[in-house]
Amino acid sequence: MAGVSAALAVLWFSPDGERTLGHELVDPAAPLLSALDLSATRGDGIFESISVGDGHPQALEAHLARFARSAAMLDLPAPDAGAWRAAIVAVAGAIDPVPESFVKIVLTRGIEGGGVPSGWAYATASPDASAARTRGIHVVMLDRGVRHDVAQTSPWLLAGAKTLSYAVNRAAVREAARRGADDVVFVSSDGYLLEGPTANVVLLRDGRLLTPPLDAGILPGTTQADLFDWAPTRRLEPVYELLRPQDLLDADAAWLVSSVRHAAPIRAVDHAEVPVDRELSDAMNAFLRGRTG
Ligand code: PLP
Repeated sequence: MAGVSAALAVLWFSPDGERTLGHELVDPAAPLLSALDLSATRGDGIFESISVGDGHPQALEAHLARFARSAAMLDLPAPDAGAWRAAIVAVAGAIDPVPESFVKIVLTRGIEGGGVPSGWAYATASPDASAARTRGIHVVMLDRGVRHDVAQTSPWLLAGAKTLSYAVNRAAVREAARRGADDVVFVSSDGYLLEGPTANVVLLRDGRLLTPPLDAGILPGTTQADLFDWAPTRRLEPVYELLRPQDLLDADAAWLVSSVRHAAPIRAVDHAEVPVDRELSDAMNAFLRGRTG
């Protein structure tokens, strides 16, 4: 029998869009969206990517909480956590067992003028991140063009919401590739480290793990949060602090961290090398990989 490499569940909503009625497993290769869906025409919706380790969705409640927060920021109907949890578990369990997979959940504003959201959950095996986790990555610092307090001054820009409008984030990664690098660390127009296009930045300095404050117009990362909970087991103090590009260049070690890649050590920033702490990176990835909740 052919293996099942992907699974898709469609969420059903009441006609007023307020209630989630449940989910249905459908053929992941079948057409799903109307050409009028606002996700396709305007990028108007939200998503989450949840890593699944040996069948266990990881940081699931944190992802559901952030999904609800993004929905509120976009004035979308509040997601029904129970219905989404059930869909996530269903698709994660419907694919052939692999050590690492992920579930992507999407909630859109639906068809223009209709008032009924669209939603789905999709599971498949994760891309192989072992090279990034062991050899490390080369990043470039790029100006994001907004101040670090943009979330407070201009909330309509949706800084810190996980929206479907990721074209800018993809363009930044292409710019990194043009410069011969793998990824990006965004810097605010007033000179503070922010985050990567799909990851948070974590630095090691003098026995402290540092990351920018969560209100600095960045996505509050579930991976960074789990690493900060774990840090004291390694006698590391977790600290939220405004950081400058020089802090990254002077760090004892640094990482981009996110759900599917886990912790990718940064080995170079622009043209400067950054030390890689292989032992700590391996310990971080073993912890992240082993999470069962
Ligand atoms: N920042 C951005 C912009 C992201 O897109 C992501 C994840 O995709 C993250 C940070 C890391 O979040 P998490 O660790 O929850 O995956």
